[in-house]
Amino acid sequence: MTFVRLRGNGVSPGIGMGEVCLSEPVFLSARKESIPGSSVGNELRRLKRAVEQTKIELLDLKKKIKGHMGEEHAFIFDAHLLILEDHSLFAGIEKSIREEKARAEWALAQADRKYQEIFDAIADEYFRQRKSDVSDVLARIAANLAPKPKRPAKPDGMKKQVLVAHDLLPSEAAMRFTWGNVLAVAMDMGGSTSHTAILARSLNIPAVVGLHDLTLQVKEGDYIVVDGTDGEVILNPPLAVRKEFQSKKAKYDKYFRELKKTARLKSVTLDGEKFFPLANIELPEEVSMAFSFGAEGIGLFRSEFIYLQRASLPTEEDHFAAYSRIAKAAYPSAVYIRTIDIGGEKSLPQLKIEKEPNPALGLRAIRFSLWNRDLFRVQLRAILRASVLKNVRVLLPMVTELEEVGEVRFLFEEVKKELARERVQFDAQIPLGVMIEVPAAAAISDILVKEVDFISIGTNDLIQYDLAVDRSNEFVSYLFKPFHPSVLRLIRFVIQTALRERKDVAVCGEMAANPLSALILLGFGLRKFSMNPIFIPRIKKTFRSVELATVEKVVEEAMHLRTAQDIEELIIERILVKHPKAFLLGQLM
Ligand code: PEP
Ligand code: MG
Repeated sequence: MTFVRLRGNGVSPGIGMGEVCLSEPVFLSARKESIPGSSVGNELRRLKRAVEQTKIELLDLKKKIKGHMGEEHAFIFDAHLLILEDHSLFAGIEKSIREEKARAEWALAQADRKYQEIFDAIADEYFRQRKSDVSDVLARIAANLAPKPKRPAKPDGMKKQVLVAHDLLPSEAAMRFTWGNVLAVAMDMGGSTSHTAILARSLNIPAVVGLHDLTLQVKEGDYIVVDGTDGEVILNPPLAVRKEFQSKKAKYDKYFRELKKTARLKSVTLDGEKFFPLANIELPEEVSMAFSFGAEGIGLFRSEFIYLQRASLPTEEDHFAAYSRIAKAAYPSAVYIRTIDIGGEKSLPQLKIEKEPNPALGLRAIRFSLWNRDLFRVQLRAILRASVLKNVRVLLPMVTELEEVGEVRFLFEEVKKELARERVQFDAQIPLGVMIEVPAAAAISDILVKEVDFISIGTNDLIQYDLAVDRSNEFVSYLFKPFHPSVLRLIRFVIQTALRERKDVAVCGEMAANPLSALILLGFGLRKFSMNPIFIPRIKKTFRSVELATVEKVVEEAMHLRTAQDIEELIIERILVKHPKAFLLGQLM
């Protein structure tokens, strides 16, 4: 038993350790078996029966998962059922059987290979990860061609184990997770947006993926440690290392319990000022996880995923399904749906988007939507239809001038009239707001705010454009400074302008998730902080241990300083003197 340490990509935090349970990969037979021309009809019928059987199985699995883990996890099977209805996929498989006079097993394997190649060539990680869903469905059909399905059966004695797999198919992961005996997951393949990773995260099962050849190094029964927080996997550790991880696990579990406790506490400062932690999410199924971390609404739904998730353009129904699911799951709390922020470097697989020399300054976000009005109308119609519960708001990304708001309003009114003519219900008073993430918009926020119902400040882009620092370029990351006086002056101006006009204002960039910068925002008068849900308890903990009056005084003083470093140091010093516990939990993360 050799001791091995491997680094991977931690996609679900926490530590799990125990005996390895190896999940066998599902291979699609690559062996070509020819059939006589007279048997082709038979073979096509055999395929059809297997597809029908697969549909029955998927519907059954969906019901089971819903029963065990709740509605929000059954979505995987909706995606799989959609794949089963993909005519071009099955036309290709039938064509292979007909033209090559080959068995259906081989035709399925050919289709799988072709789709893997197509998906591998896609730059977007979320979209690329969908390839395992296609394999999953094809493997299930192949299993149904044979008399005995090869799917794992629920074992009798339910020993708790660590699941190790080359590439755990999402439906298998969902099934195994319902059995409740998975301590952690480690995989050779995978990315953070694979369905397996998403499921593991929302069920709090530690997971590390992208371990390349782990499955070649382990065998059933080996002892394994999976550290999903640091993205590490240790095989057969000596006693001392095992102990080290046991104590790390105990600390993490305690910390997690503490976080969960904080999530349930009231969102008020020490002197009783109410604030609202909101969640930034990218997938509809993240809503319940967000609320479990203490979110009091969805402050930002990045709707791009709807486009990145499928091979063809999403229909109005696709949009509507996602938005109404979020609106219902979050009801009565508010949901801010941001219209797509695509274009530039985030290209759409379904559309040929011209490569631009300077994508961050190009046809991005609202510019893209106004350029592609047919797509934009589809999205607006779906958002309106999902607004019947009156908790939906529309957020426009990357606005730079008033004319853009005017154009959107015009289109929005047209779409509303169209829906009214069709007697479709929607919230006629649905609030419309803009993101302030370009310095130009910040500077004219006094003008913009009069034309909209609310404002949300996207500090990630605002810093990028204000300081001329590419937010994803590590060479200049040292210049990406949230505490730069210029950034703070702009943000203060926007917040105070909105408050003066009595309009709702939120921050949905990373600055809302960092205890120090969030304190500055609190001092500026902000009360709505939207962030990745896992950071909500940390912010709540910090805010609950400070007095608003102190924060306001310190922030006022900091705004007279000249550099980011001076500002940061002053805030830490002054706040800690008065409230020594303010950053305790924050330092752990
Ligand atoms: C931002 O720019 O701060 C923001 C929240 O939007 P995104 O990170 O999606 O660009
Ligand atoms: Mg942005």
